[in-house]
Amino acid sequence: MNTTTKPGPKPTAIPRQQNVRPRVAVSSCLLGEPVRYNGGHSRSRFLTDTLAAHVDWVPVCPEMEIGLGAPRPTLRLVTDGGVERLTTKDGGDDHTAAMLAFAEQRVAELPDLDGWVLKSRSPSCGPRGVSRFRKGQPTDRRGTGMFAGRLMDVRPELPVEEEGRLNDALLRDHFVERIFAYARLRALFTGAWMPRDLVAFHSAHKLQFLAHDPARYRTAGRVVAEAGNRPAAELQDEYTELFAAAFAIRPSRGRHVNAMLHVFSPMTDRLDTARRRDIAGVIDAYGRGDAPLAVPMALLRHHAKGEDIGYLQAQTYFEPFPPELSR
Ligand code: SF4
Repeated sequence: MNTTTKPGPKPTAIPRQQNVRPRVAVSSCLLGEPVRYNGGHSRSRFLTDTLAAHVDWVPVCPEMEIGLGAPRPTLRLVTDGGVERLTTKDGGDDHTAAMLAFAEQRVAELPDLDGWVLKSRSPSCGPRGVSRFRKGQPTDRRGTGMFAGRLMDVRPELPVEEEGRLNDALLRDHFVERIFAYARLRALFTGAWMPRDLVAFHSAHKLQFLAHDPARYRTAGRVVAEAGNRPAAELQDEYTELFAAAFAIRPSRGRHVNAMLHVFSPMTDRLDTARRRDIAGVIDAYGRGDAPLAVPMALLRHHAKGEDIGYLQAQTYFEPFPPELSR
């Protein structure tokens, strides 16, 4: 190890995942509440047994909260002449007006959130792929639950997932990464913040940002450079929009390789040839699809720590969320 190079600056005090708890709205039945039409629940083990220890839930059951009770007749979405309605299966009761009024009010009252987990296929909660019945025509399966639609209209930038998709490791990691990133941003912008706080935040998220969207990283950098010279609220909104849009893009293998080369570069002159080859080899192997992401990441994290490179140690890229959430 070359010890003649001066160590980099010390890591900055960016809110890390140990210090933040994402606030996540969730369909109550997914937490095991007996609120379904049949008096049962749709408990998700990942949510109740794993994620629950790291987030603050905001449970919502739209059908119970408009007073339908459980058990109750099943509801469905019906479209007729371009108008969508929420009715009982036999069409006897129409709950459209009650649900729309409730959604308007409940969404306005919700606290600042970092994401949603919604029950799939529900005519009230389903975020996508909900059946819409049409008289004399085949069922359209591209609907959105009536409550979920209002949520997503009001906060389109927030991550939304269905419980079933959280069983897919890639989708789950992306969702969890986004809610933690959003929670750190919310922690930054809660209360008074100084331009230097935003500079430090942007710097600590550089590699994570690059893995998602290099173009938006650069645009956001220009926004950060204007901190102090523009109204803070306007700058905060613009940065939040860029950050959310960038993190909504799932990182590709190529973008991860690009981010990892940004990690590798500042440490190359501190490492001997064998170590350099070792690291370059595992990054290549990951790029070819011959090694999982965890392999080069573990090696890079190890060397960033061993070489005491403060800038790298401060990067959220190495641990974007508590590792126990990645099964
Ligand atoms: S899907 Fe939504 S409306 Fe239906 S039981 Fe679950 S929380 Fe309630």
